[in-house]
Amino acid sequence: MANATPGSPVRVRFCPSPTGNPHVGLVRTALFNWAFARHHQGTLVFRIEDTDAARDSEESYGQLLDAMRWLGFDWDEGPEVGGPHAPYRQSQRMDLYKDIADKLLTAGHAYRCYCTTEELDARRDAARKAGKPSGYDGKCRVVTTEQKAAYEAEGRTSIVRFRMPDEPITFTDLVRGELTFTPENVPDYGIVRANGAPLYTLVNPVDDALMEITHVLRGEDLLSSTPRQIALYKALIELGVAKETPAFGHLPYVMGEGNKKLSKRDPQASLNLYRERGFLPAGLLNYLSLLGWSLSEDRDIFTMDEMVAAFDIEAVNANPARFDLKKCEAINGTHLRMLDVKDFIAACEPWLQAPHAPWAPEKFDRARFEAIAPHAQTRLTVLSDITPNVDFLFLDTPVEDEASWSKAMKEGSDALLRTAREKLEGADWSSPESLKEAVLAAGEEHGLKLGKAQAPVRVAVTGRTVGLPLFESLEILGKERTLARIDAALAKLTA
Ligand code: GLU
Ligand code: ZN
Repeated sequence: MANATPGSPVRVRFCPSPTGNPHVGLVRTALFNWAFARHHQGTLVFRIEDTDAARDSEESYGQLLDAMRWLGFDWDEGPEVGGPHAPYRQSQRMDLYKDIADKLLTAGHAYRCYCTTEELDARRDAARKAGKPSGYDGKCRVVTTEQKAAYEAEGRTSIVRFRMPDEPITFTDLVRGELTFTPENVPDYGIVRANGAPLYTLVNPVDDALMEITHVLRGEDLLSSTPRQIALYKALIELGVAKETPAFGHLPYVMGEGNKKLSKRDPQASLNLYRERGFLPAGLLNYLSLLGWSLSEDRDIFTMDEMVAAFDIEAVNANPARFDLKKCEAINGTHLRMLDVKDFIAACEPWLQAPHAPWAPEKFDRARFEAIAPHAQTRLTVLSDITPNVDFLFLDTPVEDEASWSKAMKEGSDALLRTAREKLEGADWSSPESLKEAVLAAGEEHGLKLGKAQAPVRVAVTGRTVGLPLFESLEILGKERTLARIDAALAKLTA
């Protein structure tokens, strides 16, 4: 099977079904198609495969569009942008499919199958027991006019089945190389339900043909449908519906916990999780691009422009890719550090407001936030972590975290805090160095190293044992409030 003609314009598609929330596997497929289209200055078609009325929803359709926009993927044809092959929602294209199914029937590429589910099951079981291929056995390939009349008189309904060729199908997968499927493994398959509704098996390749798709890049889970689609394409070319069979490339599986395929239902798989935790699209996409591809052996941090410039579908690795949340977070953290500080500040914005922010809106102080932001930018991995790291600046009293309190407040902490308070009171509050000297000196008086001495101070002032650099935090909070918080902690300790 020939690949698309070299040099001809590239047309790829991203064609999700609007069921459930968008997940990372879907995003990876969108990303590779988008990068391939942009690399080749081709066209990305965004098509909605909403032919399953029972599972599709408008809500999910809205989420898909929203996700594509958030990720920064632009498409050249599809919902909201239109195009020469509109409409791009399959639910609005039903007449087209019916017409093509009729043509396939008339030309003998498809036939009506009258077998009932019970009959099919019984024959499948028998074939299995006999150790024979258990797919559809071709019984209705030849049905005489009399038989047909008899079936219909019995009240049987029929589906439309595509007639697969009796020879093997070989094609060169862009990722996996040459693959051959033998006829026993690819039996005749249904393309139209008994109620007249066309199936995915028909509408997906028909739309690829009508939309003149040149490269089908999709997940490995769809590999088994490819020989069927290639055979259908051949029939469509014969009927003048398709011009050329596209090239196919199947992206590797994404594995999750316990080396099992990452499932849509896995909480880690949900795109919303990454949005809610404050991943940057650039960071998430950088990580997802590594699920099967790499820019070069020694570089795993890059921008989408760099990915587009370098993307090569033939360099995609066929082996399953492991989804590693820690690595995903680390890469996102690196992208946070790559931002201009003003962009970092802007990106934090949603997490400085309700429902994330626990402080009253009027307590927020932009100057203080801008002072602390650079310290957060060098440390965070996800934007949502900004809130607990800065809340001590905007709450009247720091959060009460019992675990932090009991961890930091030991025998003798009150004495240490008293000394630290005294020294901080006399320190130079325009320099974090001077505040550090004060706590260091207090620690020395009590035989404590800096780390041990600063822990009770940090918990007294911020409520937590971990946070941004302490002395910068104290400076930004201010002398008065710092001392008042140490007093409140001392009161609690001696109560
Ligand atoms: N609508 C199909 C899905 O959601 C896409 C099939 C394809 O890419 O060919 O899995
Ligand atoms: Zn049949």
